[in-house]
Amino acid sequence: MNETARQLIDALKDGNHLQEKDFLQIMTHAGAEDAEYAKSCANALRIANFGQAIFLRGLVEFTNYCKNDCLYCGIRRSNKDVVRYRLTKEQILDCLVQGYAAGLRTLVLQGGEDAFFTDERMCDIVSSVKSRRPDIAITLSLGERSKESYRRLKEAGADRYLLRHETATEWHYAKLHPSFQKFSNRMQCLEWLKELGYQVGCGMMIGSPFQTAECLASDLAFIQDFRPQMVGLGPFIPHQATPFAKEPAGSVETTLLMLSLVRLTLPKVLLPSTTALATLHPQGRLRGILAGANVIMPNLSPVDLRDNYTLYDHKANTGLEAVEGVAMLDKELSTIGCHVVVDRGDALY
Ligand code: SAH
Repeated sequence: MNETARQLIDALKDGNHLQEKDFLQIMTHAGAEDAEYAKSCANALRIANFGQAIFLRGLVEFTNYCKNDCLYCGIRRSNKDVVRYRLTKEQILDCLVQGYAAGLRTLVLQGGEDAFFTDERMCDIVSSVKSRRPDIAITLSLGERSKESYRRLKEAGADRYLLRHETATEWHYAKLHPSFQKFSNRMQCLEWLKELGYQVGCGMMIGSPFQTAECLASDLAFIQDFRPQMVGLGPFIPHQATPFAKEPAGSVETTLLMLSLVRLTLPKVLLPSTTALATLHPQGRLRGILAGANVIMPNLSPVDLRDNYTLYDHKANTGLEAVEGVAMLDKELSTIGCHVVVDRGDALY
C-alpha cells in the first residue's frame, strides 16, 4: 500500500476534487491494493447514487464512411480494406423498433464523419425516431460539426451527444491525429454542445500510443473541470490496418482505476463499461461495473454489417454485447447483484 496514494484517494472520495498534480501522484504511485481500494470506494458510490440499476443504451453504428484519419481507428479514411456501408433511415428505424422491444430507451446513433449525413438528413432521422417512439432518448456521436448543425440537431430532438476529447494534452492529440484534425476544434465542439443544452459525454482511450501518466492526470483534471454528464473510456486496442497496428493494447487494470477515479470525481456521472473493456477481458464488463461504471451499450446494428464497423481488432460483437443478449446480460449482472432497467437513464445534473 502507498500512503500518499491512499490519502489522495480518500481526499477524492470525501471532496470529489483533486488538483492535477494529485491525480498524477495517484497514477504514478497507486499499487494493486490502492487500485482495489479506489474501485471499492467507486463501487459504493455507484450504488449510493444508482442502486443496483444498470442503464442500457442501444448503439447503432449507422455509417462507417469517415473523412477523418485518426491514426488509431480502423475506419479511418486511409484504410482502403474497409467495406463501407450506410444505413437507410428505414434500417435505423428497424433497429429502433427492435431495441425498443428489448427494453432499450436510449438510441445512440454513432458513425464516422460522413458528409452524406447532412443536417437535413440527420434532422429527418432524429425527428422520425422521436415521432416513432417519443419516450426514447437520442444520443448522437457524429464527431465534429458546426455549432449551427449541433443546434439544428438539438431542435430536431437529439438529447445527448458523445464526443470523446481523446486526450486533454495538445501534443498528445497531435500524435494521435493528422494535422488537419485540430485539438482546439474538438474542445470547441464540446463547449458548444454544453452551451446548447445537450447532456454531453467526453472521454478517452486508456493506453493509447504516447500516453503518459501526466496525460491521464490532465484528462482527469479536464473531466473534473468540464463536468460532463457522461464519460466514455475504454482501453486502446490496436487495429491491424492502422499505423498503430504494432502498438500494445491499453491495460485493463489502468482502465478500471481510471473508471473509479472518474466515478469518485463525478459521483453522479453516467459511465459505460465499454465493449473495448469486454473485448480485452472475459470479465471486463462486470469488472467495469464493480469499478464504478453504471451503463452498458448493447449493439443494435444489423448483424450482417457489424464486422464492417471495426474500430479495433477482435471487437466483441456477438453474445452479451449484442441486443439479442439483453436477457443473458441481465443474468450475468445478477451474479454481482445488479440488473438492467427499462429507463431513459437521464443525467442527474
Ligand atoms: N466519429 C465519431 C465516433 C468515433 S468512434 C467521433 O469522432 O466522435 C468512437 C470512439 O471509439 C472514439 O472516440 C475512440 O475513442 C474509440 N476508438 C477508436 N479507435 C479505437 C481503438 N483502436 N481502440 C479503442 N478505442 C477506439
